[in-house]
Amino acid sequence: MIVHGAAPRLEIDLTKISYNASVLVSQMNACNISITGVTKAFMGLPQIAQAFLKAGVQSLGDSRIENIERMRDAGITEPMVLIRSPMMSQVDRVVASADISVNTEILVLTALSKAAVSANKTHGVLLMVELGDLREGVLLKDIESLVKKVCELPNIKFMGLGANLACNRGVSPDDCNMSQLSIAAGQMSEFCKVRPMTISGGNSANLSWVFSGGKTGRINNLRLGESILLGRETLHRKVIAGLHTDAIKLVAEVIESKRKPSNPWGEIAQSAFNNIPGKSSSEEIVQSILAIGRQDVDPEGLHSDNGHQILGASSDHLIIDAGSKELIIGSSVSFQLNYSALLRAMTSPYIKKVFSRSDGMQADHNPLAPPNQHNKSGHFVHL
Ligand SMILES: *Cc1c(COP(=O)(O)O)cnc(C)c1O
Repeated sequence: MIVHGAAPRLEIDLTKISYNASVLVSQMNACNISITGVTKAFMGLPQIAQAFLKAGVQSLGDSRIENIERMRDAGITEPMVLIRSPMMSQVDRVVASADISVNTEILVLTALSKAAVSANKTHGVLLMVELGDLREGVLLKDIESLVKKVCELPNIKFMGLGANLACNRGVSPDDCNMSQLSIAAGQMSEFCKVRPMTISGGNSANLSWVFSGGKTGRINNLRLGESILLGRETLHRKVIAGLHTDAIKLVAEVIESKRKPSNPWGEIAQSAFNNIPGKSSSEEIVQSILAIGRQDVDPEGLHSDNGHQILGASSDHLIIDAGSKELIIGSSVSFQLNYSALLRAMTSPYIKKVFSRSDGMQADHNPLAPPNQHNKSGHFVHL
């Protein structure tokens, strides 16, 4: 089928994303856990952020201030959390656009306080606790003294504690590490008058623990991104019952289609990205090239809807085994994406972002599109 509409493109079904978010919101709210919808994987695209909000997420979180600013510029006024420790060079922007930031460094906190004073604002602070995954966080033994310092800082409001597991070393959230967070929160609440404190237990990797009846204790918030977008928990990438796993699809266009020998010839040295597949046993295949590459996507994170096997990828070519049927030049091939592929595709200015709702297609919006590629058709055909 001939492609109508720009390629490559991400087809983003806002209805499915909203549905996923609303299921998770109601399941977590039933456990007294609020949801911060994490927007970093899609660079804070306001359409998707709005789909999160429509589903009832209580706040939005992003690790980059640019994305928070983009959502503010789009008129979103809901609470926003910067979920990565602010850069010293950005504290003014953080205070201006984010209501809350997560923190671990007294130097940054002091700078935030100064920025908040001069902006005549109050800035909320969540302190991150290290629970073993060895990414951000203050060691448990150092929490109390930091909280005491934070409570003295002008125009800074201590909101509570947070933790993040699984992202760096794959440490799973469980009753043991989560209860350490709850206990620390209980101790802090004794000499800090903040009530109720926000205790943000983690990210999508915490879902299996909650679903399996984990003791949530004082944990009353989770920050969810991937599970909403892709419908899977993130420890084993199992589908979360009832969620859509196909809310976002990648579509790329065929630019070459030829019957070719399966194995290369000539003396073999390094290829551009060192992807050297094993020797194929078949003589010949129908090989197609799609106009997309490593600059746009992580090819290891793509899964073809039609069983096409990915044979290789360079900066701007994706080579697939088209199977028995030759793909027509100009036709399109679609893929499911994992988080890594999604992250890169969302960030590529060459990939159009096309939104759909069950009530019809919406024109696309692409803040980074090269100027002369701006939305030529505004709609696409279903393939
Ligand atoms: C990215 C991130 C999240 C969201 O993680 P998901 O796996 O997408 O749910 C939550 N918290 C922090 C601190 C993050 O960096």
